[in-house]
Order: sequence, then structure tokens, then C-alpha cells
Amino acid sequence: MGQIVILSELLVNKIAAGEVVERPASIVKELMENSLDAGATQISLEVEDGGKKLIRVIDNGCGMDAQDLKLAFTPHATSKISSAEDLFAIATLGFRGEALASIASVAQVEVVSRTAQAIEGSLLAVSGGQFGAVKPAASAVGTAISVQNLFFNTPARRKFLRTTNTELGHITEQFNRIALSHTQVHLSLSHNGRTLYGLPAGQSLRERIGVLFSAELAAELISIQRKDRAVEITGLVAPPRCSRSAAQWQYIFLNRRCIRDRFVSHAIRESFRGMLEANRQPIVFLFLQLPPQQVDVNVHPAKAEVRFADSNMIHSQVLAAIRDQLLQSDLSVPLPADSLRGLSRGPFVADTLPQRGDIHQQQNRVRQAMADFFKSADPPAVRGGQSAYPSAAGGGQSHYPTVAGGGQSAGPQISYPGAVDDRGAGFKPSASAAAEPDYPVKPSESSPAPTGPFMQIHNAYLVCQSDDGLLIIDQHALHERILYENLSQQLSRGPLASQRCLIPEVVDVTPEQMAVIDSQKQVFTQLGIAVEPFGPSSVAVQAFPVLLGKISPADFVAQLLDLLLANSGRVSREQMIHQVLDMTACKAAVKAGDPLNEAEIKNLLAQREIVERSSNCPHGRPTTIKLTLPELEKKFKRT
Ligand code: ADP
Ligand code: MG
Repeated sequence: MGQIVILSELLVNKIAAGEVVERPASIVKELMENSLDAGATQISLEVEDGGKKLIRVIDNGCGMDAQDLKLAFTPHATSKISSAEDLFAIATLGFRGEALASIASVAQVEVVSRTAQAIEGSLLAVSGGQFGAVKPAASAVGTAISVQNLFFNTPARRKFLRTTNTELGHITEQFNRIALSHTQVHLSLSHNGRTLYGLPAGQSLRERIGVLFSAELAAELISIQRKDRAVEITGLVAPPRCSRSAAQWQYIFLNRRCIRDRFVSHAIRESFRGMLEANRQPIVFLFLQLPPQQVDVNVHPAKAEVRFADSNMIHSQVLAAIRDQLLQSDLSVPLPADSLRGLSRGPFVADTLPQRGDIHQQQNRVRQAMADFFKSADPPAVRGGQSAYPSAAGGGQSHYPTVAGGGQSAGPQISYPGAVDDRGAGFKPSASAAAEPDYPVKPSESSPAPTGPFMQIHNAYLVCQSDDGLLIIDQHALHERILYENLSQQLSRGPLASQRCLIPEVVDVTPEQMAVIDSQKQVFTQLGIAVEPFGPSSVAVQAFPVLLGKISPADFVAQLLDLLLANSGRVSREQMIHQVLDMTACKAAVKAGDPLNEAEIKNLLAQREIVERSSNCPHGRPTTIKLTLPELEKKFKRT
């Protein structure tokens, strides 16, 4: 009885402040957003002691008059919306009208502001929610607001503030987000009197990234642009060779508001699928623009999350925007591969680009020199129809494309049309005019034949001429990528074509594996593999995909079961298929050490041109290293 009381307004504000004001960086965000909403073209941010002592934001926006100044600090006071309908068409960053009231309840705030119409400005101080009187004060048009001694009246919360460096890190992050999304505004940040950033108005996004992150990264970024229906997507993404171990360099802006969104993040990851190793994250600066009616921004106190009217559509647009662009870009790794620069594993072209000079003339010289070299070198691989590098067996016979090569298969023979030729190894030179490739590739008619000279070295790498230099290709990684793409293309059209085995191969299975066969029937069907029980603890492989002709069905099914068992219940079906394809491509691909003949090399190179994402193997390792003419010149000290 009598235990319920209505909380005082001050206490309500302090509670609300807990939501809005977590640390100095939250204040920076709110104040800078207010300046942007006020139409400022210049905003300066000064902080002391990581913002714990002072945060000051000075802008040249529309300012406030004496009357508005006081109102601005009362809860739910805003000039940005006035009706419920407005909530669904928000074009400003703020609209809840609680930031200033919240901030002023937990710190000592002083504002000086002036509108263009007023002849002088007004000053108001609010300390821990206690209002002073509004006084006249000299001021330029705009607003200067300083927030001192955050949490001075809530010691329990002050204790939670971290070191100056940590808090400054969070502030910089907020500053960066605004700097990236408002390149038209002149921005500066100083800490303890030292200027950290001065960003002139009108810089491009790339320039800002160059200043805020790294000039080398900025030079590497690929622009994306897509407009479809009401959604416009623009931005910059780093090629897969520049990646991070965490996702913190993935910026997503919706109508210039920095947001987190699991649909968009998923689409970003998907768009890089197969190009990055599992533990790497892409670097992305993504800007979505869509009509405010199609998104609800009022679902999170700091407005960091939003709700899209149609998240699936957003997902597919983002995926398409990034992927299309990546596929069109040359993602080969430039040399030197060892210039890490601390940022990522990837090297940056900026290190290797020629500085100055008459590039054209030098390029021509080197091009000619290289052409001469390749002519006179008479690379063994281009001479005959057979791999000219002697194999271990000495016969120049190709083991391509692996498995059961040379009739070494231990299991019972199974029937594949055309699987057995005069060499008994199921070998067919895949690029010969009449023959079908004996590994899954796109039809060779549509493959442009490589034009320049090429050769295989160490039975592991292909070296060939490109328009602007030379390429060194990891034959296994490239073939793996080709197989992966072809398999996934086929799978997208339906189950892989399979064929009944004349003599079924038998695989011993544990009870758990037996259960997996049952629960993952769909995966087996998709892959075109039919297995039937064969006694209490074994199964017989009755049908097997045509495309995997050379692989032993028993081995393959045993490995597939291991994979399915290891992942069962832990990954989505889609991820499972992805891993299965990975494994399949890896097993079926030509290995390092396999000699290749001219036709085989030609075919691989031709496929490289037409297969999507050929620059990386499915595990994300690069398939190709590129050495450009200018880089060669540099190495030969011709520049
Ligand atoms: P909101 O931004 O959600 O409206 P705030 O508490 O952040 O709420 O600000 C309250 C009001 O104060 C704003 O609606 C705006 O009218 C005014 N205001 C705040 N900061 C500025 C500024 N820098 N310049 C001009 N007006 C401002
Ligand atoms: Mg605000």
C-alpha cells in the first residue's frame, strides 16, 4: 500500500539518459547530429580527456532563439516532428527530442546560440538538470554547445568510463561515421588542443577514407553503384585481398544514418562468399538511399537499428550491387605480396605503382622485351599436345584431373561413358576440338582461347602473358574455383545429373553416420548420390554424379559423411552445400605436381576468363598473382 510513487522529472530524465548517453561518444553523436539537422556546413568538435572532461561542438547551422533554447532542453522537445504521421517520413537524424534533456541531466552543459535573424545570441547553462536563466551573449550565427564533467552527479556511472584512449577511440569512431556520410560538411576534431583531423567540405568519400583510414586502402577501393526500384546503393568496397579479421570496417548507412542491420551484413558476407577465407571480413562503405516511408527508424533508442518494410528486397539489392561489381573487377593480387602494412593481409597497389615518368614509353619497351623473351624461351608446355615437363613417371603423361589416375583406383570399376580411354586413366585432352572436357567446365566453344604465350612451371603454376604484364596462376586453386562455380551453377538449376553405378561401392558407416544419411537425404539427392543400406553397418553407393566421374564414390561418400556429421545442426543447409561443394571441388581439382599438357593448360586459362570470381579459390586464397609491366620496370630499376 502506498508504495508506488511517480518519479520526478529529473529522475525520469536520468533514467532516459541511461539509454541515450552511454559514454562521451554518445554525446558526440547526438550533438553532431543536431548540428547536421540544423543545416551546418561547418562543425568543429573539441574534446578533452577522451570527452570525460569536455566535449564542445561548434556549428554554423540555423541556431536557436532565446525561447527555443530553453525548450530544447526539456524532454520530448523537438522541432523535427509534430505529428504521428511525421514519424513515418523522417528526414532528419534526430526526432525523439530527448538527447539534450538527457545530456543536461548528467553533465554540466552550456549553450550559446544565435539565429540569422537575431542581432545577438543567447546563452543558457544547465547543470545536472538545473536550469540557469537565458542571458544575452555575443555569438556568431549557429550554436556552440559544451558538455563538461559527464556523470559528475552519477558517480556510479562515471566509474564505468574507460581510459582516455578508449573513450577517444569511441569518439573518433562516431566522428568517422559522420565524416563518411557527410562529405559536404567541413569537419574537424581536436583532442586536448591538438588537431586530429581537419576535413575540408567537398572531399570525396575516397579522399575521406584516405585520411581517416589509409591512403593505400582508399586507392584500392572499388566503387559500387546500383539503382533499382526505390533503392539506390552507392559506396566503395575493398577487393578481397584487403580484408580484416573483424567486421568493424563495414559501414552501412541508410539515408546517411549509420546503422547495423543483419540483413545487409549478411548480404555483404554473401557477396564475398568464396573470395575470402573463413576468418576474414570484407571492408565495405555502403550507402543505401530509400524513401523514408519504407523504413522505420524508431525502433532503437540510439537509432542504430532500423526496420525495413522489405528486408528481402534490400538484401538482394545489396548482394547484387556488390557482387556484380566484384565480378567485373580485376581482383588479381598485385606484387609484391609481402607488403602488409599492418592493415590486412593484402598488399596495396599504391606501394607498387610507378611514381612518375613516361609510363607509356617504358611500358612499350618492356612489353616488347617480354614478348621477345617469351618467343625465344620456347616454353616446353607450348610445344606438343602432351605435358612436356617430364613427370615423375617420366612419360609426360598427365594425371589430370586426378583420382584413380593410371588405373590405380582401389575400388571396383564403375561405368562412366567415356571414362576409359586408351591410357586407361580416364584421360581425355579436354581442349581438343571434338572432345568434351572431362572435368566440369562450361562448354569450351564459348571459352575465349588465351592469346599470349603461356607455360607450366614446376608442375604447379601456370605463367602467362596478360594485357599489362604477366600472371602466375596456381593451377590447383584455379581449377578448384572453376569446378566450384560450375558445380554451384548446376546445383542452382537442380540436382546434379547422376548415373547408376554398375557395381555399387560399399562404405562402412557408424550408427551416427547412418542417421546423418537419413537426416540429410536432401543433400544426397541434390548431389545426385544414391545410397542404400547394405547390411547392418554399411551402405552401397548406387548412383553417383556424372561430373565427379573420376572420384572414387566410396571415398567421396565417406568424406561427405564426415563433413555432414561435423556440421550437422551447426550450420544452415545453404552453408552445408557450400562446404560440400568446396570439398568436392578440392578433391576433383588438378593438384600441384600434376603435369599438364598444352590443351589442358589452354582449357584452364580459357575457363579462367569466363568463370565467375576466378581470382580466388573457394577458400578465398588467390588463384592468380599479377605482375604488371610498371612493377617489372621497377624491379629491374628501369624507372
Ligand atoms: P531532437 O534532435 O531529437 O529533436 P534534441 O534533444 O537533440 O532532440 O534537440 C532538441 C531540439 O533542439 C532540436 O529539435 C532542435 O530544434 C534544437 N537544437 C538542438 N541542437 C541544435 C543545434 N546545434 N542547432 C540548432 N538547433 C538545435
Ligand atoms: Mg538530436
